[in-house]
Amino acid sequence: MGRGMTPRPPIAAAAATTAPAVLDLSDNTNLYGAPPAALRILREAAPDDATRYPSAYSDALRAALARSLGATPDQVTTGCGSDDVLDSAIRTFAAPGERIAFCDPTFSMIPVLAERNRLVQAPVPFTAGHDLDAEALLATGAPVIYLCSPNNPTGTAASGEAIARVLGGASGVVLMDEAYADFAAANVLGEATRRENLLVVRTLSKAFGLAGMRVGYGVGAPALIARVETARGPYKVGAAAERAATGVLTEDLEWVRERARLAVGDRARLIAALTVAGLRPLPSAANFVLVPVADAEACARRMLEAGVAVRAFAGLSGIGDAVRITVGPEPCGTRAVAALEEALA
Ligand code: PMP
Repeated sequence: MGRGMTPRPPIAAAAATTAPAVLDLSDNTNLYGAPPAALRILREAAPDDATRYPSAYSDALRAALARSLGATPDQVTTGCGSDDVLDSAIRTFAAPGERIAFCDPTFSMIPVLAERNRLVQAPVPFTAGHDLDAEALLATGAPVIYLCSPNNPTGTAASGEAIARVLGGASGVVLMDEAYADFAAANVLGEATRRENLLVVRTLSKAFGLAGMRVGYGVGAPALIARVETARGPYKVGAAAERAATGVLTEDLEWVRERARLAVGDRARLIAALTVAGLRPLPSAANFVLVPVADAEACARRMLEAGVAVRAFAGLSGIGDAVRITVGPEPCGTRAVAALEEALA
């Protein structure tokens, strides 16, 4: 099968099973609305946004990202979602036949991207305390170590000590996926511009409420970024997407922060309600919560019948079956817990 025909894994498997979901809590997007600047800019789209090519390497977007992150544009790369940034980075730093190490379980696209790029996968289980196992990751000797914190699908955050150990000991490049960092207490973005071997990858699909625009980015040392840009190639971000994203980064950062604050509060309430219901949700630093259940597929199917779509995971390493619930404003949490209780009854 050719590269372009690599099948995509089921996304939101539960949502695909039956009728349209009344409440979709399956994909960790921002359920608190869309950023106002993006909506205004999309409404004002000019003919050139449709007929002309966008800038080849998203210069305006890179400049806006650099400004908002306290970095320089040569420390920033962009892509068609962070999936695309990860794909370019993986291709840059590992050759076919080489290894990519990652924690297990982690973001479901990583094994897909590894396979697509003909890499040998080296999954490493988390520690019993849900931290990453730095020594085991380093022992793989992989030229690329992928870390995700907060991690999808567990929601758990890696400790600063374990991350520092990996960064200090890695012989190759560390890709740190911070798709959910806006909901977490800590991140390593500041490290990315100080080190030679770290690419922090982020997305505007989650806290920024722009999943439909497909905008992701990476931050790292200029030499690292230049190599990723070569693998990336031109014209990855559409003109309207670039303008909308640039507008949000310029005008709406407080809007984004406030929505993330709301999600963190709703996350605490969701975890508390799940615990009261007798369940054992994992601790979460993201905008979703993972709840171990006996039979995830059946549970998600019954929850969907009750009008709530969640993502089912079967046989997660160290966890077993679990459903992942996106945090949203009320009544999202109340309905999720009610549907889950009904499903498990
Ligand atoms: N990384 C993680 C950990 C994710 O969960 C996701 C989306 N589910 C992505 C990257 C990709 O996001 P996008 O391509 O929309 O930027």
